[in-house]
Amino acid sequence: MNIHNMMEEIVAQHVNITYDLLKGANTAWLSCDCENCRLDTISYVLNRVPPKYVVSGRGVNHNSNVLKDDIQLRADIDAITNEGIRLISETKRPFHALPRKDCEASEVEIPAFNFPTFSGSVLDGSNFEPISGASVLLKCDGKPVEMVDKTWVNPAATYGSTRGQYSFWIKSISTEKAEVIKKFNFSIEVSKEGYEPVIHHFEVPIQSEMHVHNELNSVYSVKIKDIVLFKNDIVDTMTRDVVLPDEEL
Ligand SMILES: [Zn+2]
Repeated sequence: MNIHNMMEEIVAQHVNITYDLLKGANTAWLSCDCENCRLDTISYVLNRVPPKYVVSGRGVNHNSNVLKDDIQLRADIDAITNEGIRLISETKRPFHALPRKDCEASEVEIPAFNFPTFSGSVLDGSNFEPISGASVLLKCDGKPVEMVDKTWVNPAATYGSTRGQYSFWIKSISTEKAEVIKKFNFSIEVSKEGYEPVIHHFEVPIQSEMHVHNELNSVYSVKIKDIVLFKNDIVDTMTRDVVLPDEEL
């Protein structure tokens, strides 16, 4: 059985059209539209939209309907594509002249701590609907964490069509010895305008290994508990009810 993610063609097509439009309009910030930059953008977008799997060969007929029926998904692919092109346009320099293999991520020496991917969702506390447009920053020991390559970003953003989900894949960290277990203290800081920011702490023990994970399919995944944000005005009302009974409001 051959399973195929239909989003690959849809996203590739959309990214190429967007590059062509930007290039045609002589957009000032677009520094490059070569094949490598386009591929980076495609993978940036594919890492952020939900996959749609079909059995190979049957995809063609479905393709046109997927986007037609889903306005939210279409808007999100558009927003994420623009975000990806900007990011890749800004960060292209260091890897750009190098062959593609080298631009993925700088080499990590072994032994190394390899991390799982982390994923989770951001929900609105008033109705438990996913929140889009939240900023999710992953820190380790209080410092922002470096991602495995530039198609993963930190802070990440959430989108409606991915049901408020975010995900991270942390770059491996070199260490002295293999088979040493170390506890990493992470925090996730979530913010969105109009909502009270939330910080969630968690700890992950990792054992150092004699190799570096650089294929996504060799990596396991850890689900972070749902993070729930409450609107500022709700929090304000609650505090007001409790404190300052004499104050005129
Ligand atoms: Zn390029």
